[in-house]
Amino acid sequence: MSERGYYGEFGGAFVPEILTATFDELQLAFETAKQDPAFWEEFVQLMGSYSCRPTPISYAENLTNRFGGARIYIKREDLNHTGAHKANNVMGQGLLVKRMGKTRVIAETGAGQHGVATATMAARLGFECTIYMGEVDVERQRPNVFWMERLGATVVPVTDGSRTLKDAINEAFRDWVSNMDNTHYVLGTACGPHPFPEMVTYFQSIIGTEARKQILEITGKLPKRVYACVGGGSNAMGIFSGFLADDDGDKRVELIGVEAGGHGIETGQHAARLASKDASIGVAQGYKTYFLQDGDGQMKETHSVSAGLDYVGVSPILAHLRDSGRVRFEAATDKEVIEALALTIKSEGLIPALESSHAFATAFKEAPQLSSDDVLLINQSGRGDKDIFTVADAFDDPKWEQFIIDKAAQYQARAAARRSS
Ligand SMILES: *Cc1c(COP(=O)(O)O)cnc(C)c1O
Repeated sequence: MSERGYYGEFGGAFVPEILTATFDELQLAFETAKQDPAFWEEFVQLMGSYSCRPTPISYAENLTNRFGGARIYIKREDLNHTGAHKANNVMGQGLLVKRMGKTRVIAETGAGQHGVATATMAARLGFECTIYMGEVDVERQRPNVFWMERLGATVVPVTDGSRTLKDAINEAFRDWVSNMDNTHYVLGTACGPHPFPEMVTYFQSIIGTEARKQILEITGKLPKRVYACVGGGSNAMGIFSGFLADDDGDKRVELIGVEAGGHGIETGQHAARLASKDASIGVAQGYKTYFLQDGDGQMKETHSVSAGLDYVGVSPILAHLRDSGRVRFEAATDKEVIEALALTIKSEGLIPALESSHAFATAFKEAPQLSSDDVLLINQSGRGDKDIFTVADAFDDPKWEQFIIDKAAQYQARAAARRSS
């Protein structure tokens, strides 16, 4: 990486001039914290006492036997507090906010998971918290909005544009410009203007640092392949970080990023920026990377069964690692993902998030071609409880449908009684 936060031709910081001083302040605080061993120690301590770190690696014995190829191991980021790797990033940034002496945090969220994680961090560390969310997403993600509000956050529905994630990002930046003295913007993934891709990767690298040590202890060797799903790219950069050293052993570890293939690449309804040829290089949302955009730079509609992978851009670090040949990219379709999820639940008693299930689907395709000497490591970025509405629909469960119908009837009766009293 160069001084200005470029990875090859990707990255940079395309921010309004009024925010330059704020970015300089953040950059300086981050550099200073990184050089202070007490900061990382404080982070590790907090994650150990509040978020179940180090998360274990589980041997998937039943899946291994079923495929009859490589031995399959799973890094359990689902065991983090709030159910995913997102905790690593938000708690890390929270500690940095304390160091900077700021008192308020803001964030954007699409699916709502990053909003819940940020609101949790703000409650724990004592910050004021405002979450920007497209109005459409507020309606779709009521359970997450419910928890954000219980956690004390103010959730602002954004009514501009398409009323989804990108409009929420614009609004969060607008807030930051007016309140930079006391406010930090907690960006949720390894994207956005420098130093966010580097900073988010730094906090998430705790996954890869642990995983490399654990897999060596358990199997006596480095894995042949490491799989991670890629939305913005933070859990992937987190686990890949453990295997990016420039030595012969690590260079032989194949790194595979799995994107949302949606209804299939050929349909155009997907979010595969690096695994398809549908994305092109551009500058948006403050950084340069591959975006799913048309010839005029208008962002395309993306689709995925998993809200967390449904994003038009991708980490500039991953764009560079792909172009330089270090990371291979694949896409898994919605259908393959649901099948991989069903199989993992029944075989191992694990419930991966729909996002994580993309990594499982691709690993399952490749495991039979390898030998039992080979070790595969899958990053289970989160747990699937949050996906109950989507998964129940995909499984077409009639008992679940009846439950929702009954619940709705109860609420209608209650609302009617309230109106007539
Ligand atoms: C948010 C989320 C993702 C996608 O984000 P990345 O930055 O690409 O890691 C993946 N898995 C889970 C469980 C998530 O909640």
